[in-house]
Amino acid sequence: MKDFSTDPSAVVRSTDWMQQGNCRDTNPAVFFPSDGAGVERARAVCVNCPVAAQCLEYALALHIDHGVWGGCSERERRRIAKRRRLEAERRAS
Ligand code: SF4
Repeated sequence: MKDFSTDPSAVVRSTDWMQQGNCRDTNPAVFFPSDGAGVERARAVCVNCPVAAQCLEYALALHIDHGVWGGCSERERRRIAKRRRLEAERRAS
């Protein structure tokens, strides 16, 4: 998966990548599940999505709390954000 973390604003500035997502013909409600089974259903759509990296970075850059983005649940995104924060703090110290 390509790493967009060095320039997250690129995926926010232009959202053309969304048109290439595996989910383009899927009901958006699928990506806002209320339980673990729903998360797995959403993830199944995200598998092999050609723009999963952009999608994940978009959600992280905009601090989107809810839903499955880039194949990652809310909890997974919180973990990624925390890991990045700690890495940035370590580099700065
Ligand atoms: S990663 Fe999932 S939610 Fe994101 S664009 Fe692809 S299919 Fe849609």
